[in-house]
Amino acid sequence: MKSSEALTTIFREQGLRVTPQRQEIFRLLDGDDSHPTVESLFDRARAHMATISLKTVYQTVHDLEALGEVRVLDLGTGSVRVDPNVEDDHHHLLCTACGLVRDLPVELDGLHVPIRYRRDFTVDDVQVIFRGRCDHCSDRV
Ligand SMILES: [Zn+2]
Ligand SMILES: [Zn+2]
Repeated sequence: MKSSEALTTIFREQGLRVTPQRQEIFRLLDGDDSHPTVESLFDRARAHMATISLKTVYQTVHDLEALGEVRVLDLGTGSVRVDPNVEDDHHHLLCTACGLVRDLPVELDGLHVPIRYRRDFTVDDVQVIFRGRCDHCSDRV
């Protein structure tokens, strides 16, 4: 994802609204590798900006996704997760106990769809989720 300043310029060029509330979301997402939920972004933004609404957060994330600046992931944790790392192709590690999501920037060679299943279909993108438990959660069992 680009910096808050660059996104402000891009949003204006695209005729999209830029407000202090939206810029707060840009800043929160910039460099955040925790794959936050929209709700947690809202909670963090609200802590120092009382005038922000959940709807604004959703709309801003949606606009960022449409511009290709974030990915919105449904990893089966109940809430969609926002991933600002669109620069590097990566897979994910997911803790099924606490919902921790970590980038896995490795190439998984040999992952391919056999020709007989590929007919009439073109694969553009592969994302693998490794489910398990983080150390913190393993220790608590
Ligand atoms: Zn965990
Ligand atoms: Zn990621």
